[in-house]
Amino acid sequence: MTEEKKDCPPYAPGTHVRESDIRDKKITFTWWEPEVQYSWSLGPAMSKFLQGLKAGKIFGIHCKPCKRVIVPPRMFCEYCYGPTDEWIELPDTGVIETFSISYLDPDARRIEEPILVGVVDLDGTPPHHGFMHYFGEMTKDQIKIGMKVKAVWKLEHEREGSINDIKYFKPL
Ligand SMILES: [Zn+2]
Repeated sequence: MTEEKKDCPPYAPGTHVRESDIRDKKITFTWWEPEVQYSWSLGPAMSKFLQGLKAGKIFGIHCKPCKRVIVPPRMFCEYCYGPTDEWIELPDTGVIETFSISYLDPDARRIEEPILVGVVDLDGTPPHHGFMHYFGEMTKDQIKIGMKVKAVWKLEHEREGSINDIKYFKPL
């Protein structure tokens, strides 16, 4: 059995470091940006979806046995496990399936004016088949489940094949 030292706590007491301590140079720190290069294989379904967004189009994919359009598209249907079969260009309109009024920004910092985020069900897809996005040109008091919305796109030269090529969905 080892003898415990009474003057030594079982943990090392520390000082909480705040982001401002770094900014105000109260602590020693180093900044290092790794030059890491990588590529990410999106696969055929997500590649087509993102290329479509760059062109201002939203592509879904059809599963014939289940008679449903899946968006964002996948090469297989998780209901019947069969391959999906036909690309469908969807309208950029839909309804709000659900939403949140968020007082945290994407980096989890508190914000005064909330952002509105949620799931949009596009027209031409079955209920509960939507994807997450921002809602805009409406206030937290105006947003409602079931509200008709339309995509607001970035300008063509600003698009880069990203879900954020759609800036947000606005009331229709
Ligand atoms: Zn299916």
